Amino acid sequence: MSSVTSNKGGIACFWYSRKRTAGQFEEDEEELEDHSWITWFCKKRGKNFLCRVNEDFIKDEFNLNGLRKVVPYYDLALNTILDEEVPYWIEEEVDDNILKHSAEMLYGLIHARYILTPRGLKAMSEKFENADFGFCPRVLCKNQYCLPVGISDKPHKEFIKIYCPNCQDVYDTFQKNKLDGAYVGTTFPHLFYMYFPSIPTSEVK
Ligand SMILES: [Zn+2]
Repeated sequence: MSSVTSNKGGIACFWYSRKRTAGQFEEDEEELEDHSWITWFCKKRGKNFLCRVNEDFIKDEFNLNGLRKVVPYYDLALNTILDEEVPYWIEEEVDDNILKHSAEMLYGLIHARYILTPRGLKAMSEKFENADFGFCPRVLCKNQYCLPVGISDKPHKEFIKIYCPNCQDVYDTFQKNKLDGAYVGTTFPHLFYMYFPSIPTSEVK
């Protein structure tokens, strides 16, 4: 799947082959025609720290265990992110802004679970490769690519932060529309390291 490349150049190198297959081009074309809530949400400004969560993962109730108690208007929020019609027995009248926030929160909390799975780790590695999470602000780290991290697994506690694999420190992001740190969670960088032990660093201490 992957091969680690030398990092002698200083800045983190890509460790996936960037060659695209015919299948990947087909996937790109499908994405262009994809008008789903998930695609729209992930392309929104300030949401580029989040990867696409596979719909099958969201539809598996096992993966959503406990979120009903945390997310307001859970059923409506779930319908929203899956682009499903609201069942007739749900007659709640909800302000659009509240529902928008609930849908974002539900997606974010599902996202925190998804990125701990092999598929989620792979999706996040592609974002890491694209420097979607930004660079370490420390000069000696020479633009080391960073990983996102949450300080708390509970929502509404802390904004998302970035973790530098080189100096192993945590920094605030420069994002204007900051995301809740619970949408990534506290475990992600550690697991990412275990899954991709050859993660390239700028090797400057
Ligand atoms: Zn650093």
